[in-house]
Amino acid sequence: MLLRHTNSDIKERKALTVNPAKTCQPIGAMYVALGIHGCLPHSHGSQGCCAYHRSTLTRHFKEPVMAATSSFTEGASVFGGQSNLMQSIDNIFAIYEPEIIAVHSTCLSETIGDDLGQIVAKAREDGKVPPGRHVIQASTPSYTGSHVTGYANMLEGVVKYFAESANEKIRQVNLLSGWVEPSDIREFKRLLKLMKVSPVILPDTSDVLDAPMTGKYDMYPKGGTTIPDMVSMGDSMVSLGLGEWGTKKAAVALDNKCKVKFEITDIPIGLKATDRFIQALSKAGLVSIPESITDERGRLLDVITDMHQYLYGKRVAVWGDPDNIIPLIEFLVDIDMKPVYIVSGTPGKRFDKRMSEILSERVPEAKFKNGANADMFLMHQWIKEEAVDLLIGNTYGKYIARDENIPFVRMGFPIVDRIGHSYFPTVGYLGGIRILEKILGAMMDKIDSTCPEESFELVM
Ligand code: SF4
Repeated sequence: MLLRHTNSDIKERKALTVNPAKTCQPIGAMYVALGIHGCLPHSHGSQGCCAYHRSTLTRHFKEPVMAATSSFTEGASVFGGQSNLMQSIDNIFAIYEPEIIAVHSTCLSETIGDDLGQIVAKAREDGKVPPGRHVIQASTPSYTGSHVTGYANMLEGVVKYFAESANEKIRQVNLLSGWVEPSDIREFKRLLKLMKVSPVILPDTSDVLDAPMTGKYDMYPKGGTTIPDMVSMGDSMVSLGLGEWGTKKAAVALDNKCKVKFEITDIPIGLKATDRFIQALSKAGLVSIPESITDERGRLLDVITDMHQYLYGKRVAVWGDPDNIIPLIEFLVDIDMKPVYIVSGTPGKRFDKRMSEILSERVPEAKFKNGANADMFLMHQWIKEEAVDLLIGNTYGKYIARDENIPFVRMGFPIVDRIGHSYFPTVGYLGGIRILEKILGAMMDKIDSTCPEESFELVM
């Protein structure tokens, strides 16, 4: 028993988090920067922070993730990191030649009070930013929020810096893609093409974090949102933000700066959220919904109907990021499963409201919590009180899965012990079928391996 010290006696905790259901802000900032073409993320802090953030992303995507660091030592930690960052900007443009450096702060640089905006402005004044090159920044102190907060802060920084309006609307839609996989971005592109909607997708991690093996190393892979595309976002007809936590700040900033109206909808995970996404696209792009997409929806419905007997009433525990698990929970309820335990380490007042709306009628016994104390320890304690049939979440659930012998579907971030997430989407109607395939596969494997011989079925 790896988690043998977890017991079911739940005590109120105020200042202690055990096995958090989140990770740190700069990882989100790095993830956004990687989805911009020719951009090098830069961590303003110690080398250890940067190494941790890079390695988490590298392990999740199985791709080399590049990032630079201000390499704080004792001097910078006491007197401030301005000279380290100025020197870094000089070195990075001279040696690594990115089009953009995306600087984010860390706990240490925030605590000593470094003002990234002031330092970057000084670097420009001092001529350290070559013509046609850019430095953007976001404040990402990790002692508040989570990796999702860091994602939102960097995305806001990007649109504030790049988007410009020439006061001539272009027939295109800004898709603020939310924290999804490169595979999901590819699925968005396929759906947008079917619907004949012309998008700017920001960030776009396809062809960056799922780049093919060519035998040649590219420091800046061919994917990522380009500078002209980001500039043009200021003249798009509308912005569609996928996930309130990740994209609302950027959508508001774009509206304030360039008067681009926006709509926030959920990441299209599952049936209803995909319905809303397709309808929002249809409205934003002024296009109708093609029959081929209606057929995809029908296929998802068909799988749900065929497999309903295995899903009905099954108790599920889910953890992850609000923008991803809110539509997932809605999908689980729609297929008649019972998401009974839900935690998210990312704070945000709307979480309770959204969960109550989805669960209060259909699963009134559900327990859910978000914020700092909503951790994997609490999740395990709930499970010890009353067991579940399935776990859905990132890799960190494998300890609970092993100790309690519960089928486990990996979804979310990070997944560092399996592959597939970067290549097979979980968004859209096709993504819904993939989620069902994973759920049914895990649960049916358990049935096959534990049922009595007289109940062992060839056909399921
Ligand atoms: S929590 Fe803070 S100190 Fe720790 S790795 Fe993240 S940014 Fe660095």
